[in-house]
Amino acid sequence: MRTQRRIVDYSLQRRALLREFYAGRVGTYEVCDASPYLKNAARFHGEPTEVRCPVCRRENVTLVHYIYGDELKQSAGQARKRAELPVLAMTLREFQVYVVEVCRGCDWNHLVEQYVLGRDGLAVEEGGDGAVSASAAAGAAGATKRRHEAGR
Ligand SMILES: [Zn+2]
Repeated sequence: MRTQRRIVDYSLQRRALLREFYAGRVGTYEVCDASPYLKNAARFHGEPTEVRCPVCRRENVTLVHYIYGDELKQSAGQARKRAELPVLAMTLREFQVYVVEVCRGCDWNHLVEQYVLGRDGLAVEEGGDGAVSASAAAGAAGATKRRHEAGR
């Protein structure tokens, strides 16, 4: 998504927890504790994936997108379909998205990532990218020139 920024990836934490689980140091009841609310959200707003549940290995996990932010008012904390997010990102300045994976078979659940969406990201993103590539190009040109001079 174009305005996606400040991405925090939780795959390391997920892997660490699963390692503990496979080693038998963490029980199934500790990792398979999806609440009825989360399961409902997965059922009505979830995005199916091709990723096998790492715990039961019978079902694919479903991704649930939760949105937070002052601009959302009473919608803050609700789950939304992924397809609804780009529309919100164009109408709101800034809101947080938390992506949670859930297995509807065994109730495994874990935070996958969080990020910020919203119109505020557009100007910042475009200006920042331009500045970086311009200075990188200048640096590369300088390096080529110096190499030529050294060769002579
Ligand atoms: Zn499962």
